[in-house]
Amino acid sequence: MTQALDRTIGFVGLGRMGGPMAANLVAAGAAVRGFDVVEEACAEAARAGVEIAASLAEVARDADAIITMLPDGPLVRRCYDGEAGLLARAAAGTLLIDCSTIDPFDARDLHALAAQAGLRSLDAPVSGGVVGARAGTLTFMVGGAEADVREAEPLLAAMGRRVVHCGGGGNGQAAKACNNMLLGISMIGVSEAFALAERLGLSDQAFFDVASTSSGQCWSLTTNCPVPGLVATSPANDDYRPGFSVHLMLKDLRLARDAAAASGASTELGRHATEIYERLAADGAGDLDFSTIYRAVRAAGDAAPHEHGSGA
Ligand code: NAD
Repeated sequence: MTQALDRTIGFVGLGRMGGPMAANLVAAGAAVRGFDVVEEACAEAARAGVEIAASLAEVARDADAIITMLPDGPLVRRCYDGEAGLLARAAAGTLLIDCSTIDPFDARDLHALAAQAGLRSLDAPVSGGVVGARAGTLTFMVGGAEADVREAEPLLAAMGRRVVHCGGGGNGQAAKACNNMLLGISMIGVSEAFALAERLGLSDQAFFDVASTSSGQCWSLTTNCPVPGLVATSPANDDYRPGFSVHLMLKDLRLARDAAAASGASTELGRHATEIYERLAADGAGDLDFSTIYRAVRAAGDAAPHEHGSGA
């Protein structure tokens, strides 16, 4: 039997991801004190055994570690800052773990602020989505000091299956931005390949059988295939219900685009992918799984293709 997690943990942000993550910490034996500005999120977490705090100060009280799982960087900053914020209220040496997906440069600023306040900190964004948060199978990409990562490992293990230490502060967010930019691009690539294969007279199944076992193989094809009926786990089979929504993909692509601009990296396809998903969101598909891009790519094909050799 695994040992009970004998820690007191503060948890800020009990939403779609944070709620089940906090519940998994409780299930592992931790005392979890949670805070959220939405009543329903608090009620749901309370049902899972999370003690609901009335303020950030209460979350910070006696906590060995404080996890934040919030929509964006400015909100994490808001929870950290000020007289009533976590930086002022946490006891010296408390470990702050931000699991939200935020800008890598913002994450580095937060590490510096935590250090100034005498606190230790990790950025630990996740991959695996709501399904992984519920099942406790998330992957954590972690930036920060080795000793702090080691201390956090039992907590992270209660919520996930894999912890990858990516280097110093901000490197977890850097890994997340790069991975999700690649994911956004690869889903468009897979969609274009299926659309072209269809126009060339291949069946979806024939193309899948080739690409899934050759050099075109990738997660967007073999786990989240955008064409319905080929892969059991695909949101495409469920009318593109997410999964990972276009809105969330856009958020991550914008973070990658901004990080590329700030660091001077050339990411032409990343920028182009951002524009493509922006159009998809503007067309009302923002809440669908991002693999719905396949339908847009397919529909954008010419109604009357040019004849081969016509010179067009
Ligand atoms: P969510 O909107 O469901 O949850 C965020 C929670 O934060 C909400 O309950 C909200 O009320 C709460 N909140 C906002 N401001 C607050 C404040 N000042 N104090 C306390 N609570 C506050 O979002 P989510 O899907 O749980 O995502 C959380 C983070 O995880 C985001 O950064 C997202 O990019 C990242 N993420 C999400 C997924 C996913 O599939 N949903 C996957 C990977 C990473």
